[in-house]
This record gives sequence, C-alpha cells and structure tokens, in this order.
Amino acid sequence: MDAPLDRSATWPYEDGEPGRFSYARADHPTGVACEEALGALDGGQALLFPSGMAAVTCVVLTMLRPGDTIALAEGAYYGHRVLFDHLAPWGVKVTEFDQTGSPPEGVDLILVEAPANPLLTMPDLDAAVAHPAPVVCDATVSSPLRLRPLEHGCDVALHSATKILSGHDDVLAGVTVTRDEELHDRLHQTRRLAGIVASADTAWLVRRGLETLAARLDRQEAGARVLAERLAAHEAVETVRYPGFSFLVTFDVADGEAAGRVERAVRTIVNATSLGGTRSKLEARHRWEGDRIPSGLLRLSVGLEDPDELWADLEQALASA
Ligand code: PLP
Repeated sequence: MDAPLDRSATWPYEDGEPGRFSYARADHPTGVACEEALGALDGGQALLFPSGMAAVTCVVLTMLRPGDTIALAEGAYYGHRVLFDHLAPWGVKVTEFDQTGSPPEGVDLILVEAPANPLLTMPDLDAAVAHPAPVVCDATVSSPLRLRPLEHGCDVALHSATKILSGHDDVLAGVTVTRDEELHDRLHQTRRLAGIVASADTAWLVRRGLETLAARLDRQEAGARVLAERLAAHEAVETVRYPGFSFLVTFDVADGEAAGRVERAVRTIVNATSLGGTRSKLEARHRWEGDRIPSGLLRLSVGLEDPDELWADLEQALASA
C-alpha cells in the first residue's frame, strides 16, 4: 500500500541515459511519493527536507540576495531568528514585526507563522499578501488540515514535519509547498546543489505519519481545548494562550523559578522539547528564548493521552508553582 522504501543512492541508466531517478541527491522515489502526499494536502508542489530549519535555509538561499531584509513575525519560532542572525555575515538582515498587522515597508521577504510558536498569535494573511514582498507562512502548528496558506495567497507554505505531520517524535523533516512552478524549480535546484536532501527513511516515516494525521490532530486538539479551559481557571496560572484550534497551548506561571518547578513535577507529561507528537510534552521556554517571552512561560504540546489524566498530572505539577 505504502510507497516502497528504496534506500538506493543511484539507479541504472536507461538506454545509456539517466531515467526519472538516477542519483538520490536530485530525487528518490520514496521522497517523491511523500512529496506528492504533502503537495496534495497543501494544494501545491512540495519539497521534502531533512529538517524544518533545512527548509528555511533553502528558502533563504533561494529567495534572498545579500543585503536583503527578512520581516519575521515577532514571537515566532526562536530558531528562525537565531538562524537569520547567524547568516548575517552573508548579508542577511532581519527585522521583527507584529504579524497581526501589516509587514513593514521596504522588506524583501516576509516570514509569518500560523500560529506563532510560542506566543500563538495568528498572522493577518490578507495584510501580508498585500505587501509586494513574497510571503512564506510557517504553518507547522496548524498543519494543512487547519490552514492552507497557499489558498490565502502566500507564496510558500512551510512546515517542520518533525512535528504533527510525522507525529511520533522519531524523525526530523521539513517541507516547502508552492504553486509557483519557477520558484519550486529554484528551491529544488538549491536543494539538489547544496545536498539538503531528506533520506528515504525520513520520507517513508513522514508519509506513514500522514496516514493518521487527521485522527491524531482531532484528538490532540480536543485534548488541548479541554486543558486550555481548565488552565485558564487555575489560580497558579496567569495567562493562557490557545488559538482555538490545534494541539499547542502556552501558559504563564508567576516566574521562571515556578515554571522550572512545574516542568520538573510532571509525570505523565514528558518534560522535553518539541511539539506535535503522540506523547504530551511540557517545557519552560525561557531557557531557550530568553527575554523575548515571559520568564514563567510553559509550552504544552498535547498528545493522544486521556485529557482527564493529563489534567490530573498538570494539577499536581501546578501545586508546586
Ligand atoms: N518552525 C516551527 C514553528 C518550529 O516549532 C520548529 C521547531 O521547533 C521549526 C520550524 C524547525 O523545525 P526542525 O526542528 O524540524 O528543524
């Protein structure tokens, strides 16, 4: 049923000429099968990468020139900002903006995140696509089942497929999807030349994850709704952020020390980084993000467990806040 897992790096020429598959750095059959499924979900042509950050790096190398400026949504995944700062010697400039309004004038690429991880704001996509610069929408937390950025006029939908798309915390992967054939070809060329290629095993696992995406997302979302409501009524919790859909909830306790006590006290929920997997995970984000977020912010990625069991765990952990 599934596309076969073909780990070959090279395939025989046909009549002395390269056929559809000749060398895996260009394309491989397991990757293409996965890309077809991902493209159908987002309504465009997909490319698979070995991580979400590899996908972002390919976008930057393909769509920007030295001296260009990226407008990055405030409160978006901190790794984007760290990567762009790291690329400053190559002439990449970055400015952050409030994605609930219009992007600043004079920028060359807009990166919004729907919703932003971990502040969970949603971008104003109409305002973003009205800007002359191309718009890349990181929809990792929505997944294409809740938001299809290309239908809103974005140029590229981007995902860390490490998260809900693969869903089991056992693979790193990233995706770009676009309807612009020329842009797709240029992204593919950068991927091939730079060798930023996901393995056949990665592609197979992502493809298999998609089989259960709808069921996992429905259940994880239902759990997140319940927990967001209960957290909002808890006396130790100051702010709850939940966009009203999907599996990610963030909330603040008094300060960084309280957040540290809560994350060490969870038992059913795993104290670990990342999101979107079948097992619920909680972590204090201040250690990674510093002062760009409240010091007491905890990020909860709701998994497949029984919401009542998760709430019992959170309640006992919050007693130490
Ligand atoms: N985008 C978002 C919203 C993320 O949360 C992450 C990782 O946490 C990434 C991109 C980067 O993805 P990866 O870790 O697969 O490189």
